[in-house]
Amino acid sequence: MIGTRALEPVAARADQVWKVYGEDEARVVALRGVSADFVRGRFTAIMGPSGSGKSTLMHCLAGLDTVTRGTVRIGDTEVSGLGDRALTRLRRDRVGFVFQQFNLLPTLSAAENIRLPLDIAGRKPDPAWWDTVIDTVGLRDRLGHRPAQLSGGQQQRVACARALMGRPDVIFADEPTGNLDSHAGAGVLSFLRQSVREQGQTIVMVTHDPVAASYTDRVVFLADGEVSGELYDPTPEKVLAVMQRAPQVLAG
Ligand code: ADP
Ligand code: MG
Repeated sequence: MIGTRALEPVAARADQVWKVYGEDEARVVALRGVSADFVRGRFTAIMGPSGSGKSTLMHCLAGLDTVTRGTVRIGDTEVSGLGDRALTRLRRDRVGFVFQQFNLLPTLSAAENIRLPLDIAGRKPDPAWWDTVIDTVGLRDRLGHRPAQLSGGQQQRVACARALMGRPDVIFADEPTGNLDSHAGAGVLSFLRQSVREQGQTIVMVTHDPVAASYTDRVVFLADGEVSGELYDPTPEKVLAVMQRAPQVLAG
């Protein structure tokens, strides 16, 4: 099991996870016995070539997809053992998501998008926490705007604020800067980093960018559905060096 240092509390854990899609000629083994811990209050990157299983691992960890074999936990809850209703509740109350394509509702304002998951859950945002999140992501003067009136970077800030607002046990971000220029990407990465440092948020982020990975505490490398290595306190240079030792990781 990689990732376990001393006895730190674990926000999410995959234990010998296998994921097989399709059957016969269409059969694809996306994950081959992946075990990894994601410690609470840390920012972790998952890196690996296209098709190495990064999104599949994240979807299995988040309860968006089922595992074929093995177990997944969020905190003390075994996700793989939950029924549909409990799974829906877990995804709603304990997990946050940020996607490459933002996934905002076009007819709602920024503020309405941010509040939507809490509205659906019948919860009210804590006013002090609302202010903290809005100021962290720098959206104070954009709250009344619709997504189409915002830049890509601002839209991703809205998506991050939406994920942060429910104070989930863990936020999963799949290539959150993949559609942003480097300046907008740096803004998003900075406040993700800040939410980990200052609010103790746990974040797991898929990226293929060594600079994006350098904002995190640790990188887990996947290759062909298996964990191929890990790196603590990454710098862009250290990440590149690992990629060059294992060229199959390079493709992003
Ligand atoms: P990554 O995010 O690292 O690019 P994915 O996790 O998306 O990789 O995919 C891993 C493998 O599983 C790939 O071979 C992909 O084609 C396959 N795969 C992913 N999702 C599905 C699916 N819903 N049905 C069939 N195959 C899938
Ligand atoms: Mg992917």
